[in-house]
Amino acid sequence: MEPTLADMHAARSVIAAHLPPTPLWSYPLVDRIAKATVLVKHENTQPVGAFKIRGGLTLLAGMTPAERRRGLVTYSTGNHAQSLAWASRVFDATCTVIMPAATPGWKAAAVEGWGARAVRSGDSLEEAEAYARDLAHRTGARLISPGDTPELLAGVGTLYLEILQACPDLDAMVVPVGSGTGAAAAALVAGELAPDCAVYAVQSAASPAAHDSWHAGTLVGRPNRTRAAGLATGRGYALPQRMMAGRLADFLLVDDERITEARRLLATAAHTLAEGAGAAALAAVLAHPNRFTGRRVAVVCTGGNADATELSTLTECPEPAA
Ligand SMILES: *Cc1c(COP(=O)(O)O)cnc(C)c1O
Repeated sequence: MEPTLADMHAARSVIAAHLPPTPLWSYPLVDRIAKATVLVKHENTQPVGAFKIRGGLTLLAGMTPAERRRGLVTYSTGNHAQSLAWASRVFDATCTVIMPAATPGWKAAAVEGWGARAVRSGDSLEEAEAYARDLAHRTGARLISPGDTPELLAGVGTLYLEILQACPDLDAMVVPVGSGTGAAAAALVAGELAPDCAVYAVQSAASPAAHDSWHAGTLVGRPNRTRAAGLATGRGYALPQRMMAGRLADFLLVDDERITEARRLLATAAHTLAEGAGAAALAAVLAHPNRFTGRRVAVVCTGGNADATELSTLTECPEPAA
């Protein structure tokens, strides 16, 4: 079931009761380097540090009290897990997150900090997913797929309603992709409200499964080696891929090194802590000047949950070029 623009408007009134719109700012030094008017959408300022909270709130708001008591089970190592944990606390639901055994302790602590249960199982996200499926089956809890859940996608759409309301005359929006919910929502909203605004999806060249699925027109699996956790998926997800088909202007790739450079530029010129995924959209604008020079472009800084490695690379910040 594909969510509609009406679902996204409905999600917006749900979310408005809990979260203010995030800022959309531009910065002269970013514009000068990008040779474009760049508007940064600061989803890193959300309480869990990422846009996914919009989907989590929308999902939980739509569940009945009985469903919330039975609870939900999901599999994730990062922002999706924190988002469901946060929303489950707001709506007094039981939330269990299955994480692969090697997940760093601070990620489990972040989920537990919002009152959810973190359980380690399996050597990969696929094995964690299998355990989550089994647990949901045994307990009657609802299994939540991070990519193929329409309510999550409807909630994420509110981000693009905010951007286009604040700035209706954009030439383009650039959206980083892991499973593709963000880019699918952006493409739907732009198609309905701003047909002249091109939507570009971006993934890391080190984890190109969603990119390759979109270009091939069929779901494919690919090696998954990016350092940017939010972009690290090894397969295409059906629902977002179906919605992106025919609706994106293009699906681009950037190298992890370019993403690091974009994180440094955001830190120095835009006072913004981005995790890798959160800087991928700006990295794509810098890497593809032929598409963006002279245009008005929104880049979504999807998240700010930088890990220790990502933080350490910021200390090598050069001065932004004059
Ligand atoms: C999840 C995530 C993404 C990717 O979003 P999808 O909707 O899965 O494509 C990008 N950036 C951050 C920070 C994320 O947490």
